[in-house]
Amino acid sequence: MELTVDNVSRAFGGVYAVREVSLTVPAGELRAVIGPNGAGKSTLFALIGGQLAVDSGTVALDGVRVERRPAHRRGIGVVFQSARVFHGMTAFENVMVGAHAVTSAGFLSAALRLPRHHRDERRIREKALACLDRVGIAGWANRPAEELPLGQQRSLQLARALCGEPRLLLLDEPASGLRAAEREHLAELITRLRDEGLTILLVEHDVAFVMRLADRVTVLDLGRVIADGSPAEVRANPKVKTAYLGVRPDEPPVHARGVVE
Ligand code: ADP
Ligand code: MG
Repeated sequence: MELTVDNVSRAFGGVYAVREVSLTVPAGELRAVIGPNGAGKSTLFALIGGQLAVDSGTVALDGVRVERRPAHRRGIGVVFQSARVFHGMTAFENVMVGAHAVTSAGFLSAALRLPRHHRDERRIREKALACLDRVGIAGWANRPAEELPLGQQRSLQLARALCGEPRLLLLDEPASGLRAAEREHLAELITRLRDEGLTILLVEHDVAFVMRLADRVTVLDLGRVIADGSPAEVRANPKVKTAYLGVRPDEPPVHARGVVE
């Protein structure tokens, strides 16, 4: 699914978090969005996913504008930054929550036990298992989710998102907190999902993690796009080096980010 973000801005308390950002991710591409802490990555993520409203600009999926229509964002799967698994539920039940949201019967008829419920219930169970299998953790299905190692918990979050049958997957810092081997495993999984045809927007703080994964990289700094290109082009860009090497102080002055007039 093609994603087009055009001239999108969003401010908090009169200060821009995301300013005049445009990017196009063609169907099937794995795009990384990188930038230092506070660059606006998570805000952009939420503007695309619909958890936050844009102040101005447009967001389109396959050419259909969605920025004012949350219902049209079906087809987007999200894994939020520092998302947690549901405790007190098995891995399987965690994914069931994702699967329930997309079946035709849904929660209401399930609650009312309408006739179609039983048929759907079996379908959902099969689907949830298939999603766990797709990310390689079917063997953990009946374990309490909180007992899974962190790497498997991340895979579980991916499985939950995949159960919504997304065509665009948004991942906000999925590798954070993972050990080297877990990162490696996650990198392989994300690459495989891209190879299966999913369009993926991967938001990351860790440049090294995405540079070898991404087809193309967009760099944000102070809410603006400062570079966009192949990993090699971005790595060689002096503006990117400046943003990361901290020539300016960690907390830039407000005027650097831009104040809403
Ligand atoms: P990143 O994910 O790149 O670290 P964020 O998008 O989380 O950056 O934040 C960008 C800027 O917007 C920061 O200055 C942050 O403090 C501000 N910001 C983000 N969310 C909010 C919010 N809900 N309320 C106020 N300010 C926010
Ligand atoms: Mg963030």
